[in-house]
Amino acid sequence: MIPLIAGNWKMNLMTEEAAAYASELSNRYQKEQEKKCDVLLCPSFISIPTVRDNLSDDLYLGAQNCHSASAGAYTGDISCGMLKDVGCQYVILGHSERRSAYGEGNSSIKDKALAAISAGLNVIICVGETSEERNLGETLARISEQIKGSIPEKLTSWELTIAYEPVWAIGTGLTPTFDEIAEAHSTIRTCLAETVESASEVRILYGGSMNPQNAHDILSVENVNGGLIGGASLKLDDFWSIYACAKDLC
Ligand code: PEP
Repeated sequence: MIPLIAGNWKMNLMTEEAAAYASELSNRYQKEQEKKCDVLLCPSFISIPTVRDNLSDDLYLGAQNCHSASAGAYTGDISCGMLKDVGCQYVILGHSERRSAYGEGNSSIKDKALAAISAGLNVIICVGETSEERNLGETLARISEQIKGSIPEKLTSWELTIAYEPVWAIGTGLTPTFDEIAEAHSTIRTCLAETVESASEVRILYGGSMNPQNAHDILSVENVNGGLIGGASLKLDDFWSIYACAKDLC
């Protein structure tokens, strides 16, 4: 399976910085002899056109959220058709920051996923437990419930990517043990088999304080098919080092 290294810039980088980053990433990627690893950038909505204009065609572009309706009176929102129109191929859904700060639940994530797929976007659905849930031994139950509740039925493997992101690991410098990551990813794979065609081919990314120092070991864990990178994606050299780890493991 070709791994995916995805950068979630969140609400960071001004358009000029975004342009310079996308252009330098494209220069580096163009020089790669073999393209063994997919790379995706998910800038803020406002930087998407700038990144698109500076990104080579073999790199992927995505958004960090979308609305489930195709159009209408939704002040401040963006439809999947608009994302597609502006050149996005992916959209991240159900990030824990959206689940907690905006009250997004499984059913609204599922509605957004259906809208995104019918607009021709690939979806990256995020799941992960809080530290309280982990301490109570509820990690696997929590991620199973999120997978079952937020993924539409009968998707194909190319439409769907999962990101396992323990909430307590995001932006904290903390990470689960490799065994814990393996257990979570294996549980996700098993749950996917109930709803997705060719579940063994769905990419399951790890996200949560991945950096150039830990990327090689995390990306070596069974069923880890890439990374969703927040903080470390803001510096191109760090993001590139993580990409290099993924590529070397192919
Ligand atoms: C994220 O928010 O998706 C993420 C993985 O963040 P970080 O890499 O900063 O932990």
